[in-house]
Amino acid sequence: MKALGSTFQPYRWAPTTLELARRAGIDPVQLMRFDGNVPPLPLPSSRPATVAAALATVNEYPRALYPVLTDAIAAYAGVAPENVVLGAGADDLILLVARAFAGPGDVVAIADAPTYSLYQVAAELAGAHLGEDDRVLTFCCRPNNPTGALDPLPDARPLVVDEAYWEFSGAPGAVGLIDDGVIVLRTFSKAFALAGARVGYALASVETAAELNARQAPAPVSSLSAALALAALASPPDLGSTLEERERLAAELRSLGYAPLPSYGSFLFVPVDEPRELAEALLARGCVVRVYDDGVRITVHDREDDDLLLAAFRGEEAPQGRRIRHVRATAETQLRVRLDLDGESRVRVATGAGLYDHFLEQLAFHGGLDLILEGTGDAETGPHHAAEDAAIALGEALDRALGDRRGIARYGDAVVPMDDALARAAVDLGGRRASVLDLQLDPGLAKHMLQSLADSGRMCIHVEATGEDPHHVAEAAFKAVGRALRAALRPEGSLVPSTKGIL
Ligand code: PMP
Repeated sequence: MKALGSTFQPYRWAPTTLELARRAGIDPVQLMRFDGNVPPLPLPSSRPATVAAALATVNEYPRALYPVLTDAIAAYAGVAPENVVLGAGADDLILLVARAFAGPGDVVAIADAPTYSLYQVAAELAGAHLGEDDRVLTFCCRPNNPTGALDPLPDARPLVVDEAYWEFSGAPGAVGLIDDGVIVLRTFSKAFALAGARVGYALASVETAAELNARQAPAPVSSLSAALALAALASPPDLGSTLEERERLAAELRSLGYAPLPSYGSFLFVPVDEPRELAEALLARGCVVRVYDDGVRITVHDREDDDLLLAAFRGEEAPQGRRIRHVRATAETQLRVRLDLDGESRVRVATGAGLYDHFLEQLAFHGGLDLILEGTGDAETGPHHAAEDAAIALGEALDRALGDRRGIARYGDAVVPMDDALARAAVDLGGRRASVLDLQLDPGLAKHMLQSLADSGRMCIHVEATGEDPHHVAEAAFKAVGRALRAALRPEGSLVPSTKGIL
């Protein structure tokens, strides 16, 4: 084997969630990773149905999908299909471009410092070394990782412009320069939330793209990944809330005395004197950030996660008590739950199940819970799976958050009128599953959801609800269960609430 240079450093991944969680003494599911520069959730299009057709032909090579994907990327990027080179993520294309342009003894330049570390790895793997004079290739990253800067393009040619975060920049990018010695690299890992699928592409002049394709592996993108990328392009995400949240997070950090750099990416670079110490303190509170010599890099999530990160920045105690993050994924739905039993009725349920999301919001709100339950399901089959799995996911999260069920009141009951409807509910959190549900009218799935909640939450729910309007009857029932749950969850003593001494 040919020896690597004595100073060569391979690409280094951050530790896995399991390793970090062990170090911090935290359940891995509670760890929040702000260090990966990937969105916190997959897109709604990333679900089993999207890959079903590709699975049905997974015995075949994926080439049939390549022209379709190439056409879709060309249309998205505003170029011709002959300008597109597919790769297993932008990383694959960084390595491809480096070995296509540079060889042993050549000089490769990197425009920014600090910047993405793979450019140096790729240059050295090609046998080249870094420098400025007589360069055969220049890499630049716009917006730059990790600073978020959108600096002017270098004049050097040939020039690789890594636009992994282009969608977050609001800028036109360098695609207009592909016939002027510029090669643009993009990815589905960032805005399209498909990092695990490994799909990227290069945009280059027809001649350069042909040269790169001639040097590319025969089938760098799997058919399943191609299907996911196609589905993502067919319904691209709205990044508005991420961009708003980026600015809110930056403003909050400034109010704490930090000076995050202006960012055109999906992350913020925060210069600090002791980045390692800061990262360790944040990790102890369940937040993982990326450490650099002179600062930390934070991936923007959403308001709720970012508020936990800000609390950690403020040095507040790690939140104690009955809170849980929970994931439920089946072939039909994928749902994420963030639940705090001692919350302030901050609720958001968004599974696409319409009315039933609304009922769960009512339950959580009147239960005094903080609940974010989001995800997607096979809506084309109707709301059944999403509604059912949302109730199961909430029950599972409740069960986990309650732990051994010490120190709770255990029983609760409530009566809730709602216009024509009246509901009575009683709840026992003693750990035995039962549901006795008498809803005079049901818009469809209300009873089934309460039953699913009782089953997965290991609780006993009794409900009697009457009225003239099915929506009102069901809503009153969910509100009454929420109120009863609030009472049953009340901290009381420190013992297992049973004369048996066990539940
Ligand atoms: N370029 C930059 C600037 C990046 O930050 C990353 C991800 N860390 C990549 C490329 C790699 O992207 P991909 O997942 O498409 O290989």
